[in-house]
Amino acid sequence: MTAFTFVSNPFGTPSTPTTGAGWSPGSWQEHPAAQQPEWPDTAALDSVVDQLALLPPLVSAAESARLRAALGAAALGDGFLLQAGDCAESTGSFHADAVYNKVKVILQMSTVLAFGSGLPVVKVGRIAGQMAKPRSNPFEPVDGPSGPLLLPSYRGEMVNGSAPTPEARRPDPDRLLYAYYRSASSLNLLRMFTADGFATLDEVHAWNREHVGAAAADPRHVALLDDMDHVLRYLASRPGNQPAAPEQHGFDFFTSHEALILPYEQALTRWDHSGSAWHDASAHMVWIGERTRQLDGAHVEFAAGIDNPIGVKVGPTMEPDDLLALCHRLDPTRDPGRLTLITRMGAGRIREALPPLVRAVRDAGYPVLWICDPMHGNTITGSRGVKTRRFDDIVDELRGFIEVHRAAGTHPGGVHLELTGEDVTECLGGTTSEVLDGNLSDRYETACDPRLNRSQALELSFIAAELLRR
Ligand code: PEP
Ligand code: MN
Repeated sequence: MTAFTFVSNPFGTPSTPTTGAGWSPGSWQEHPAAQQPEWPDTAALDSVVDQLALLPPLVSAAESARLRAALGAAALGDGFLLQAGDCAESTGSFHADAVYNKVKVILQMSTVLAFGSGLPVVKVGRIAGQMAKPRSNPFEPVDGPSGPLLLPSYRGEMVNGSAPTPEARRPDPDRLLYAYYRSASSLNLLRMFTADGFATLDEVHAWNREHVGAAAADPRHVALLDDMDHVLRYLASRPGNQPAAPEQHGFDFFTSHEALILPYEQALTRWDHSGSAWHDASAHMVWIGERTRQLDGAHVEFAAGIDNPIGVKVGPTMEPDDLLALCHRLDPTRDPGRLTLITRMGAGRIREALPPLVRAVRDAGYPVLWICDPMHGNTITGSRGVKTRRFDDIVDELRGFIEVHRAAGTHPGGVHLELTGEDVTECLGGTTSEVLDGNLSDRYETACDPRLNRSQALELSFIAAELLRR
């Protein structure tokens, strides 16, 4: 790590330089903003935004720039992004154990993926800020205390509460402050884990062995771990080498969330004097969701002016020309690492829907990073009415994603997953500890979409490693 001297406080209160060209952190307000809550009290919202604007940034522009560089390498074929975490962080996600277990499973997956792909794995959590949800329907049926009710939809801890009462569902601007402090506390823990050393590579490897040992192990997964054993022993035996332990000190773990609630993102956007650019200090990377990616919409306007790496979800209805227009708007200087396209097509559609998009972007020369979200196109309703996803569909979409990129000569550059380090029962299937339809309610704990549990997540990383091996 380079020594750093602050000649002036880069984290001071925001100044507002004029950047010309009409963009400012609040210029999104002149564009239609989809999926914004109807805040009942706009004066209270303004006051919260003023308070947030005076609070310290959560991440630095230098950190985001480091992530941007790592994503840039991945976009050019020299890296693989593992972006993963809760669909929506809620009470349980903020406990130290939940954060620890999530980092642990992501590290375990990343060593398997790195070994399978032969590439450095960039680790980005959906964490420390992933607290706002777009909803297809503004109302949802819930089980109220005295029977079924239709209530305003839960929009994440940043907006309203999940309890089945009209009071809880009322958007409350104070929740933006709550989200800020929750993010700060999770980030503090993440920084502790990553600065002091979470685990050596040998330890991560031993955890993976434990998983494969405990499970009805696929012999191919055991073989992959055996190969890793050899490599680790070889590295440790080289003269002058410490036991191979790249995860021991100061490993990078970045944060990201959907930049949905724009007053919050605006309040955390600060002028970065050293980079002479606006930086959204709410997370290292932010993304635009499938429901808010309109070219002339407020979310695209906001993202266009910040210097962070940006993701955009790309669903099956995207047309090549619209995607090119988005690439141009969000990455006009064609800078690798700036733009990550997160495809979420569904297992049944990816093989038809993705190729024309990949070819168009490739032929137009945009150096984007393509990653696969195999979760959001594969949501189904289980027999008892809960949202779920089949492990096999998730694997099939990932397989289709890799096939399409191999055929186009482009790089299948990463995965975007909803997962937890806990043993929940939210997604169906998995061979090591299969979740059946009848078990979904055993530990169905998600605040929004169904997540892979620890063992399903690890199993997926072994399968992905195998698919990525050439
Ligand atoms: C999500 O990532 O939780 C989400 C809502 O995804 P999408 O915008 O792709 O539907
Ligand atoms: Mn989700």
